[in-house]
Amino acid sequence: MTSNNIRVRFAPSPTGYLHVGGLRTALYNYLFAKKNGGTFVLRIEDTDRARFVEGAVENLIDTLKWAGVDFDEGPGKEGSHGPYVQSERLAIYRKHIDLLLAKGSAYRCFCTSERLDQVRKEREKLKLAPKYDRHCLNLTAEEIEKLLQTNTSFVVRMKVPEATTIAFRDAVREEVEFASDALDDQILLKSDGYPTYHLANVVDDHLMEITHVIRGEEWLSSTPKHVLLYKYFEWELPLFAHLPLLLNADRSKLSKRQGDVAVEDYRTKGYLKEALVNFVALLGWNPGTEQEIFSKAELVEQFSLDHVNKAGAIFNIEKLDWLNFEHLRKASDGEVLAMLKDEIRKSPYSANRYSDEYLLNVIRAMRERMTFVRDILDKSPYFFESPAEYDASVAEKRWKPETAGQLKQLAEEFSGLDRPGKEQYEQALQQVAARLNIGNGSLIHAIRLAISGVGTGPGVYELLEILGKDESVKRIHHAIANIQHE
Ligand code: GLU
Repeated sequence: MTSNNIRVRFAPSPTGYLHVGGLRTALYNYLFAKKNGGTFVLRIEDTDRARFVEGAVENLIDTLKWAGVDFDEGPGKEGSHGPYVQSERLAIYRKHIDLLLAKGSAYRCFCTSERLDQVRKEREKLKLAPKYDRHCLNLTAEEIEKLLQTNTSFVVRMKVPEATTIAFRDAVREEVEFASDALDDQILLKSDGYPTYHLANVVDDHLMEITHVIRGEEWLSSTPKHVLLYKYFEWELPLFAHLPLLLNADRSKLSKRQGDVAVEDYRTKGYLKEALVNFVALLGWNPGTEQEIFSKAELVEQFSLDHVNKAGAIFNIEKLDWLNFEHLRKASDGEVLAMLKDEIRKSPYSANRYSDEYLLNVIRAMRERMTFVRDILDKSPYFFESPAEYDASVAEKRWKPETAGQLKQLAEEFSGLDRPGKEQYEQALQQVAARLNIGNGSLIHAIRLAISGVGTGPGVYELLEILGKDESVKRIHHAIANIQHE
């Protein structure tokens, strides 16, 4: 299916929910793969057993599926590079650790946590960054043998060279350099026998033949360690692309509070996947034109790593709302109908009380007035039940003592109409206004409040047509009773 050997991956740790930053990483990988005829792999990085969350992988896959960010290989879609879940690949990591130990590129560290604490405190006193003091690097073969025989618990650390510059190319940041002295002898294998992220990530990227590592900027500082590992294994480097940080409007790092950053919450709030995908696509990438509204196909067509910015991307929720409004406008009536029925099912209204035809009329009237489908229920409950009360500030302005009599004439006029549409209502209203010698406007406002309970909404004749003659007349009479009681 693929026309070249470009392979990219999204490698989340299953924390229980998909972060919007994670969706962006997944999307950029997906777009890059689709644009270039490559393969998009989903790999689950679950080697941190302390952070294991039941059901997290299923939830992640379900959310990606909802967003339409489909992977070609991954859990449940086995390809030739599996398994795609790291906890099922432990033997592979052990083999690679042995290789590094044999080469002298890694060493066992038997230090107790008490000793490590001591080292950390001493460095802290000297105002030095935390770093292992390499005590175990100098153990003799006999000492190591003895410790192993007594089953002393150990970790494996990578040996970072001294006074070297580690350089690599990044598609976003171009040439990046790190001083090796700033790096700690990173733990590669933990005492529980599980690899750390660094080892598993590099081994898998190599074995899964990943050509481009596209991930968030927070991993940039880990990259020199990864580059060293590639060197130790004598493997070719992939091309890295570190995506800019996501920022709040005040330029602080995007809030970690789950309610603000979990994709599922945006989904439950009623955002369309088209809008959310469009929105995250623009968090760090620009098309180089003024275009802001994109379908997924257009994103695939236009995406390129050359247009990924270095500067942090501001997460602007108003823009997301605007995109939702725009994408909702593009959705077909039928699509909105399905969504509206879902919303009605979740509401106190009875789902089967309204015909599809009725709901489609409501949708057409509300088309330009909604950011979310749910707005139809929130902003225009009058389509689903007659108003239980009338907006007092509007009533004060629009309902005068004489209004009751005027509405009564209007109700009579409407009753006499035979299956009226918008035009007939309009003519009838004009006739009554002329007869009463008043402007159309005062009747229009008065009747809008009578049939909807509020002062704004779609055109009044359209409202009358949708509600139908009997319902409208009934509502007018109900309003008259209310005016008279005031
Ligand atoms: N497991 C890492 C994460 O949770 C993957 C980082 C990477 O893509 O290398 O984001």
